[in-house]
Amino acid sequence: MTRHLAHLPALVLFAGLLSLAWAQELKPLERFEYARILMGTEFQILLYASQERTAGLASERAFERIEELDRILSDYREDSELNRVCRTAAESPQVVSSDLFYVLERAQEFSRWTGGAFDVTVRPLVELWRAARLRKQLPSAHWLEEARARVGYQNVLLNPQTRSVRLRVSGMSLDLGGIGKGYAADQALEVLREFGIERALVNAGGDLRLGQPPPGKRGWIVAVDPPRDEGAEFRRTFTLHDCGVATSSDQYQYVEIDGSRYSHIIDPRTGLGLQHGGTVTVVARDALTADALATGLSVLPVEEGIQLVESLDGVEARILRRQGEERQVGVSSGFPP
Ligand code: AMP
Ligand code: MG
Repeated sequence: MTRHLAHLPALVLFAGLLSLAWAQELKPLERFEYARILMGTEFQILLYASQERTAGLASERAFERIEELDRILSDYREDSELNRVCRTAAESPQVVSSDLFYVLERAQEFSRWTGGAFDVTVRPLVELWRAARLRKQLPSAHWLEEARARVGYQNVLLNPQTRSVRLRVSGMSLDLGGIGKGYAADQALEVLREFGIERALVNAGGDLRLGQPPPGKRGWIVAVDPPRDEGAEFRRTFTLHDCGVATSSDQYQYVEIDGSRYSHIIDPRTGLGLQHGGTVTVVARDALTADALATGLSVLPVEEGIQLVESLDGVEARILRRQGEERQVGVSSGFPP
């Protein structure tokens, strides 16, 4: 009897800890919201957690991960890994981080799917576009040809065995502006998951990665505004979870020269910014896929884009295209109503 009683304090302590754990578990989930300017845009994290401390710590780590990715993928930072590779990979193959290698591998996949409409080697043309925006003048045929000679995804060689990158043409350079924010949103959600937070959303300046729905809800409510000059009939509100959503449009970044409008998305075939307008919204399994395809589908003819989307698993899209007075709408069969 006394021998059994000797265990009593330990048992009481154990029961106490157990009920504390239950209390934690049963504590209702609260909504937390955080925002930070990173990668030249506002990142927002919405999450549900039972403890403010966990929520704060998890979001801090998620923002740190985005900062880390910016140091790798940025074309603005002189010292980014991407820029180091651009400077050296034409001379000899460069071993790169697994993040950079993964993004480049996926980018090549989107280039093949879109027949080169999505192409991260467009950077020489993006630089001409930026100069044109400053000077309000199109590049000369000479400079356009010179830049185009340095563009082409087929000239990026990736070796998975050595995780190295080689650029086949000197003067080539890469721009991950059409895919990097999506990847950052995906990775930020992964960090939150490591903290046991599943009910969360990461908004990378309009490109979203959604986790599990808020407690008691069917999903996150995502509103896609109608493009400029379009009526409210194109406004959509979706209830979604566990996916990526991205929108590309000519609404905010464009240059107008001699009455023509050129968007910041380059058509690799002409070397110029797109002259048609519109908005492309993509829902996919992750935000990287949605981001890259939203950019790529902006370039492709509408029917071709929808055909591509129908052939892909877990991807849906809506393409609104405007060229002068003409309007075209393409919607894939499983796009949320
Ligand atoms: P997004 O806003 O996601 O549609 O991406 C647009 C950005 O992607 C541009 O600002 C460029 O940095 C880059 N970009 C432009 N044209 C292309 C293209 N054809 N393929 C891949 N990236 C592009
Ligand atoms: Mg994109």
